Amino acid sequence: MKISVIGTGYVGLVSGVCFAEIGNDVTCIDIDKAKIERLEAGQVPIYEPGLESLLQENRQRGRLHFTTDTQAGIADSDVIFLALPTPPGADGAADLSAVLSVADQLSNLLGDHFTVVVNKSTVPVGTADKVRERINANHPDNFAVVSNPEFLREGVAVRDFMEPDRVVIGTNSPKAEAVMRELYAPLTDELHPILVMDEYSSELSKYAGNAFLATKISFINEIANVADRVGANVEAVARAIGADPRIGSRFLQAGIGYGGSCFPKDVQALAKTAESYDYDFKIIRAVLEANKAQRHVFIDTILGHFNGDLRGKRIALWGLAFKPDTDDIREAPALTIIDGLLEHGATVVAHDPEAMENVARVYADSSKAPQMTSEPMLALESADALVIATEWKVFRNADLSAIYQQLRHPIIFDGRNIYDPTAARSLGFTYYSVGRP
Ligand code: NAD
Repeated sequence: MKISVIGTGYVGLVSGVCFAEIGNDVTCIDIDKAKIERLEAGQVPIYEPGLESLLQENRQRGRLHFTTDTQAGIADSDVIFLALPTPPGADGAADLSAVLSVADQLSNLLGDHFTVVVNKSTVPVGTADKVRERINANHPDNFAVVSNPEFLREGVAVRDFMEPDRVVIGTNSPKAEAVMRELYAPLTDELHPILVMDEYSSELSKYAGNAFLATKISFINEIANVADRVGANVEAVARAIGADPRIGSRFLQAGIGYGGSCFPKDVQALAKTAESYDYDFKIIRAVLEANKAQRHVFIDTILGHFNGDLRGKRIALWGLAFKPDTDDIREAPALTIIDGLLEHGATVVAHDPEAMENVARVYADSSKAPQMTSEPMLALESADALVIATEWKVFRNADLSAIYQQLRHPIIFDGRNIYDPTAARSLGFTYYSVGRP
């Protein structure tokens, strides 16, 4: 099929490359000129394992194109994906301005043949209706708007896209359904089903999924806080409850809370949707509160050790990305921790394998900013403690004796529970983690 993807970010680029990989002719469109130039040169502007080689292969096959020209990019497309940002607006609800402005553009640009416009962005219930209305203004016929929420995870996005747990399609149009089934046929089977439903259920399912996962994380963090008080070990508890298939063992790692470009904004947007229908979604409110608090629980542990005064202290911090295997720092817990440490007078020296450039950009105009080092061990030089904020494998596999040698004071605040407390203490570390005695 001839496909275009409008919005070439984490979701749009992975989708575009993968649709090309399974044999479609794909044009990725973006308003960011610099991004498109890099992509045309065969470079991937984000860190996503496996993406660059697929991109280059499909460029060579002539199946993958990049442009900033929407009109040229969508010409003759059978399917147009919208993979546009939907950040939180001032009131916490999803800001649909990018999605709706592109819908207005499409209203003037769509051609005569049947086109399926697919919303891949995470959008509140009713957005397909709004997009349809906007397109309808100048282009009343021969198109359908479909909801197709994306469930990929950054860091394993290519695999998630190529082997989806499920593909959700929301549409009431049999013609559009047939196109979507054909498009996804190479990626779906009994184990990777395509689930067709009405648009509203499809739109809501993305928020419900993320809100449920966020709840699971916040739940185990709350158990960790109880474990800390009663002298239990949250990891043992997680193993015990995770063995129950009704609960499942994944997403039961206690830590400093969730971040990223999706959970925080999607949980908030779901709360807002409920509110706008006069429904008080009590669990979601609690999740938002618990997640926010968890970062401060950790900062308080650090402050508690230093009697509330970090002036003159040099703190090494490993991990800036909101999770491993990505350079994404949107809503990363590390940033809240850095701010907390700086605010209390500490010098922060950080390292992350992929996210340092993005963090440098965030602090470019700040009077207080973390320093960064090219090597993780360099961050430890003369440091009074090491803080772990992201569980990258390279940190997990680090040699604890070498860390001990390098630090000025052998103290670890492990916000991701990556080290064995007994091993750390037997080496002489003062070791704090989350929910483990
Ligand atoms: P992103 O910020 O990485 O990418 C969005 C891209 O759209 C950017 O490159 C931006 O320049 C471009 N853009 C903005 N306005 C445009 C316009 N008018 N015309 C053309 N391009 C435009 O965002 P993302 O992480 O890919 O997320 C996109 C959507 O997918 C969001 O709704 C998000 O919630 C959802 N989602 C994201 C993930 C994830 O892991 N990142 C997973 C599932 C769903």
